[in-house]
Amino acid sequence: MPSYTPPLRDMQFVLHELLDLENELKAMPKHAETDADTINAVLEEGGKFAAEVVFPINLSGDEEGCQLNRDTHEVTAPTGFKEAYQQYFEAGWSALSAEEEYGGQGLPLVVNQCFFEMLNSANQAWTMYPGLSHGAHACLSAHGSAEQKNTYLPKLTSGEWTGTMCLTEPHCGTDLGMLRTKAEPQADGSYRLTGQKIFISAGEHNLASNIVHLVLARLPDAPVGSKGISLFVVPKFNVKADGAVGDRNGIYCGGLEHKMGIHGNATCQMVLDGAVGHMVGQPNKGLAAMFVMMNGARLGVGNQSLGLTEVAYQNALIYAKDRLQMRSLSGVKAPSKPADPILVHPDVRRMLLTAKAYAEGGRALACYCALLLDKELNHPDEKVRADSAEILALLTPIVKAFLTDNGFQATTMCQQVFGGHGYIKEWGMEQYVRDARINMIYEGTNGIQSLDLLGRKVLGNQGASLQKFGKLIGKLVAQEMGNEAMAEFTKPLADLGQKMTQFTTEIGMKAMGNADEVGAASVDYLRVAGHLVFAYFWARMAQVALAKIAAAEEEAQRPDPFYKAKLQTARFYFARLLPETLSLMNTARSGADVLMDTDLALA
Ligand SMILES: Cc1cc2nc3c(=O)[nH]c(=O)nc-3n(C[C@H](O)[C@H](O)[C@H](O)COP(=O)(O)OP(=O)(O)OC[C@H]3O[C@@H](n4cnc5c(N)ncnc54)[C@H](O)[C@@H]3O)c2cc1C
Repeated sequence: MPSYTPPLRDMQFVLHELLDLENELKAMPKHAETDADTINAVLEEGGKFAAEVVFPINLSGDEEGCQLNRDTHEVTAPTGFKEAYQQYFEAGWSALSAEEEYGGQGLPLVVNQCFFEMLNSANQAWTMYPGLSHGAHACLSAHGSAEQKNTYLPKLTSGEWTGTMCLTEPHCGTDLGMLRTKAEPQADGSYRLTGQKIFISAGEHNLASNIVHLVLARLPDAPVGSKGISLFVVPKFNVKADGAVGDRNGIYCGGLEHKMGIHGNATCQMVLDGAVGHMVGQPNKGLAAMFVMMNGARLGVGNQSLGLTEVAYQNALIYAKDRLQMRSLSGVKAPSKPADPILVHPDVRRMLLTAKAYAEGGRALACYCALLLDKELNHPDEKVRADSAEILALLTPIVKAFLTDNGFQATTMCQQVFGGHGYIKEWGMEQYVRDARINMIYEGTNGIQSLDLLGRKVLGNQGASLQKFGKLIGKLVAQEMGNEAMAEFTKPLADLGQKMTQFTTEIGMKAMGNADEVGAASVDYLRVAGHLVFAYFWARMAQVALAKIAAAEEEAQRPDPFYKAKLQTARFYFARLLPETLSLMNTARSGADVLMDTDLALA
C-alpha cells in the first residue's frame, strides 16, 4: 500500500522564502490581512484532509470504478467518494478561495493551489469532481449575467453543486469549430440544446445535488467555424425561481468510458435531448468565454501531475531505502545486511532525483503562477495586473505541458524504482503512471499547448512576453554577478537565456518561409522553454538556500539540512536534466522537411 505525507515544509519554503508571499499579499488590499501563520494553518488542515480522507479511497476507487444505471442514467462514484465529498463540503474546503460576495472565504488562489496539489497527490480521480467546479465558477463569474451569478455562484462556492465543461464531441476535440450541438432560442429567452458530448469528466455522479454543465453549442444562424460557437449554462436539474432544485433537465449520461486511468472519475457520454439552457455572455463569443475555464483547467491539469509526481516520489524513496538488492559498486554500505538498500545505486538515485527535481521545480512554478493570477485579479496597480496577466498567459501552456510530460516521466521512473513490484497493483505505482497519462492529453493535448506557446504566445507578439520573463532572468543573473557560489546556477541559466533568444529568432525566420516550421519545432521548443523557466526557479531556490546556510554558519549554528538538500537537488537539476535542452534545440533545428517530406514513408 502506498502512503502520502503532505509536503508542508516545501510548500512553506516556496510560499514564504522563495515568493515572499506575505509581502506580496500586503500589496493587495483584499489579501493584506492574510498572514503566513494563517496560510500555514490552513495548509496543515488541508493536508490532513487530503491524507486522511481522500487518500485512503484512491486505490479502492481505482479498482471499483464508477457504475452507470442505464434505466435512470444515474452514475454512482466508487465507495467512499460521496462521503469524502460530504466532508469536503461541510468543512468549507470548496469555498477556500472563492469570492466572499458569494459565500467564499476569499483566501488567495495560491493557497488553494497548494491545497489542490495535496488533493491531487491523494486522489486525482476524486479531486476532479470538485476541481471542475472552480473553473465553472470562474467562467460564470467573468461572463455570467447578474441573475446567473446569483443562481449558480453561491452553490458552486459552497460545493453543494458541482460544475463540468462540455466541449468535446465525437468528431471534434481539438477543432471545436466543427462542433454540432444545436441551441434553439425559445420565446421565454431560454434555449433548447440538442446534441452529443463525449469524454465529459464528472458529467454525472452522486456526489452533489445538482450539476452545472457549461456547454458549447451553435445557434441556428451561427457562422461556421469557431466564430459561431456560443456558451450555455445547462443544469442537470432546472433551477426554480427561489433557487431550489426543480425538475430533471434533458441532459443525461448515455454511457461511461472504460479507460486507462482515473477510474474513480466518471468520464461520460452526455446526451442533450432538448435540454433547457441559458446563454452565458454574447452570441457566437462562447469560445472566448470558455477560455476562462480552459485556462484555469490547464493550470489545474499541470497541478494534477505535480501532485502525482510528489506522491510517486515519496513512495519510491521509502521503497529505495528499504529494498535490499546487490552491493554498492563503491564498497559495501550495509555490512550487517545480506545486501545494500537500492538507494546506494547511482541509477536509482538518478530516478529519484529526477522526480524530486520535477516535483519541487513544478511546485515553485505552479505557486508562482497562482500568485500571478491573484495579482491579475486583485492588485491595485493596473500595470502589475496587466504584466501578471501577460506572464501568466505565457506560462500557462508550459505549466500544462511541461509539468504533465515531466509527471509521466517521473511516475514511470518511480514505478521503475520498484522493479517488478512497480508493475503489481497493490503497490499503487502503476496507478500513478496510468493516472498521469491522461494529463498529457486532455485540456488540449501537449502538442496543441506547444503550438499555443510558440505560435501565439511567442511569435504572435514578436517575443515580447518572453522578453518580459527574460528580464526576470537578467535581473537574477545581474544580482548574483561575482557571487562564486551562485555561478554554477546562474551561468547555465544566462547561457540558455541567450540561446533561447537566438533559437526563437531562427524559428521565426524559418516560419516566414514555411508555416510548418512552427509545428515542426513547437514540442521541442516548449520543452526548452520549460527548462528555461525551471532553471530560473531552481537558481532562485539555490539562492535562498545558500543565503540561509550562510546565515546559519555566520551565527555558528548548524544549517537546516533542508537547505543543503535543496542545493543538492538544484545541482542535480542543472547537471542532469537541464542539458536535455541542447539535444532538443538540435532536433528542433532539423526543421520541417524531415517531417513533411515523408509521404512515401507514411504511405
Ligand atoms: C478521460 C478524459 C476526460 C476528458 N474530459 C473532458 C471534459 O471534461 N470536457 C471536454 O470537453 N473534453 C474532455 N476530454 C476530451 C479531451 O479534451 C480531448 O480528448 C482532447 O482535447 C483531444 O481531442 P481529441 O480526442 O478529439 O483528439 P484530436 O483533436 O482528434 O487530436 C488527435 C491528435 O492530433 C493532434 N492534432 C490535432 N490538431 C492538430 C494540429 N493543428 N497540430 C498538431 N497536432 C494536432 C492532437 O495533438 C492529437 O495528438 C476528456 C478526454 C478524456 C480521454
